[in-house]
Amino acid sequence: MSSSRFLAIAESRSRNRIAIEEKGRRSDLFGCNVFNEHKMLQFLTKEALESVKGAIVSGSKIDRRIADQVAEAIKGWAISMGATHYTHWFQPLTGATAEKHDAFFDLLSDGTALEKFGGSQLVQQEPDASSFPSGGIRNTFEARGYTAWDPTSPAFIYGTTLCIPTIFVSYTGEALDNKAPLLRALGAIDDAATGVAKYFDKNVSKVNATLGWEQEYFLIDKALAHSRIDLMLTGRTLVGNVAAKGQQLDDHYFGVIPNRALSFMSDLEQECIKLGIPVKTRHNEVAPNQFELAPVFEEANLAVDHNLLLMDVMDKIADRHNFKVLFHEKPFLGINGSGKHNNWSLATDTGVNLLSPGSTPMKNLQFLTFFINTIKAVDNYEELLRSSIASASNDHRLGANEAPPAIFSIFIGTQLSSVLDELEGVSKGKLSPEEKTELKLNVVGKIPEILLDNTDRNRTSPFAFTGNKFEMRGVGAKTNCAKPMTILNTIVAKQLKDFKKEVDALIDKKNLKKDEAIFNVLREYIKTSKKIRFDGDGYSKEWENEAKKRKLSNNKNTPEALDILSTKETLDLFKSMKVMSEVEIGARKEVELDSYIMHLQIEGRVYSELVYNHIIPAAIAYQNTLIKNVTGLKEIYGAAHKGFSEGQLAMIEEMGEHLTKIKKMADAMNDAMLKANLEKNSHKKALSYCNGIKPYFDGIREHADELEKLIDDNLWPMTKYRELLFIK
Ligand code: ADP
Ligand code: MG
Repeated sequence: MSSSRFLAIAESRSRNRIAIEEKGRRSDLFGCNVFNEHKMLQFLTKEALESVKGAIVSGSKIDRRIADQVAEAIKGWAISMGATHYTHWFQPLTGATAEKHDAFFDLLSDGTALEKFGGSQLVQQEPDASSFPSGGIRNTFEARGYTAWDPTSPAFIYGTTLCIPTIFVSYTGEALDNKAPLLRALGAIDDAATGVAKYFDKNVSKVNATLGWEQEYFLIDKALAHSRIDLMLTGRTLVGNVAAKGQQLDDHYFGVIPNRALSFMSDLEQECIKLGIPVKTRHNEVAPNQFELAPVFEEANLAVDHNLLLMDVMDKIADRHNFKVLFHEKPFLGINGSGKHNNWSLATDTGVNLLSPGSTPMKNLQFLTFFINTIKAVDNYEELLRSSIASASNDHRLGANEAPPAIFSIFIGTQLSSVLDELEGVSKGKLSPEEKTELKLNVVGKIPEILLDNTDRNRTSPFAFTGNKFEMRGVGAKTNCAKPMTILNTIVAKQLKDFKKEVDALIDKKNLKKDEAIFNVLREYIKTSKKIRFDGDGYSKEWENEAKKRKLSNNKNTPEALDILSTKETLDLFKSMKVMSEVEIGARKEVELDSYIMHLQIEGRVYSELVYNHIIPAAIAYQNTLIKNVTGLKEIYGAAHKGFSEGQLAMIEEMGEHLTKIKKMADAMNDAMLKANLEKNSHKKALSYCNGIKPYFDGIREHADELEKLIDDNLWPMTKYRELLFIK
């Protein structure tokens, strides 16, 4: 019965060691498969180059004639690189990327063939989009969706396919993807932050949001992963007794990377470098078989594309190395889950990081301005930000005794806190010359020194300031970063717009100097955004109580977390920032709820299969062995057998109890699912799954894991944690 488990173990053990090759200088290879600026210079006419650059910097339109030229140039380059197909590469609301390959090859009417790719194929495509989630935007009678070229993210060749990053919109123009709203949010933050940055430097004409993600993941031997239906169908282990050794020895984090993993990483990095993904850091994470990869940060839209591409490349390279990559946020009980920290900042086209203090008091005031406005934005919209990282799989981390909590708070450290405390004491209105000097020299002026040795880091904070950027830590390993990045940039954009309005009013109406006006507004913000600041232990029960007093949200599950999307405040925000319409937000909420329901539904079905077809039969088989043993003993020894069959009898009973309970739970779970599936309202249905069905999962798991402990190892059908988790 358990042969598949043992075959898988034998197969995994027979793997040949893969040699780690040196592959030459990465800087020479960097971006060789990307149609980047360097290639544009080579392949585009001056006119086309100017036009594409204009589109990248200011979003100007590329006219049709130029698009034809660009397409011709990209085609020439792609074919010279061995590409045979092209695809519009987009991000439907499934969370993953989508592609439909078309050959360059085309037939002419005279029967001869040629390679064709014109401006129209570059700029717009109409994939048959009716099978992508749309949250009701696309009626079946108007199922058309369009993909449209995003010139700000360069085309690249992956395998033999030219990939053109695109947005995906409906016939009526609504976003059906994660990229279109992100681009709008990035436009909003550019606009708002540029306006504010000009207070400090007139030469700033563009501000880019920057993103540096850190991707955590597990590597599991392919044969072993395939031997578990739960891993294959849900991405996580639904049952499994925790191994005797997990992460308690702290011996994995930053430990020596196992050979097989290193060989995979080396191939992976090589591929990433060719695709222009600037991978930099690799290390073992806390849990066994868990690793992290981080690149150099980039402009946020490009960084999002690169993360999505990376996840795909990882799958493919892992397959070559006989691994399966797990991106699920909680694949194993009892050891850490995986996240994807989003490091975020704002950079001007004059080369300044707006969240980094500088050498002059004015530069530091600029830093404080963006720093405090970000705090204020998160304070105003903490619940919305929380909603951007909600998913069935991430619920296992957020709010479930696992980093970070579902409560949003900001860590800034004691020293920056004391700077804000001092600023709060600044008097209202005009400042005396003494006050100004004091502020500039002793408060603002001290910031760079403070940050130099600002080493106190707080790993329990979901949103931490780490010297020159904020780090959002709740993002799940599987999540498309576009989601949190759209919300974060929108709320900060809104905040900066409000800030500028207030400062300008003080300058115009109250006759304050610019720096006085800025100090005045910032002081108010410090006062009114205190509840979001928290430097203590974010995992503690005390914080949960304190956060409740502060009226911070604590939405522990996805259906609750998504409620905020329907509030007037949210709709007004997105509308005023021109990021999403009411229809688009409504659709997104619907898609997220559906996805939540379906993920739980699949898990429920897999639980059902595990219980009825794997666990119960294994328990009965072992119970029968014991029963045979006891009856045999009785046959030989008669009444005297009791002296040495007590243990067996106790085990038969113990298994019988678990068996009965697990069967009852699986039956009840199935009934509850049948009932929940009749519900038409997706919010109510999601809540039924969350509160009425998911609790059975935990119950079933408890009994399954107890049975695993009792049953003969040879009879247990599922590959065990200790077999899955310790690759060499
Ligand atoms: P840690 O694990 O301690 O958080 P890492 O060095 O692993 O630190 O990650 C830091 C991340 O922050 C990297 O992905 C890096 O690219 C990113 N980062 C650094 N500076 C910025 C910035 N200005 N904007 C966005 N991301 C940044
Ligand atoms: Mg980090």
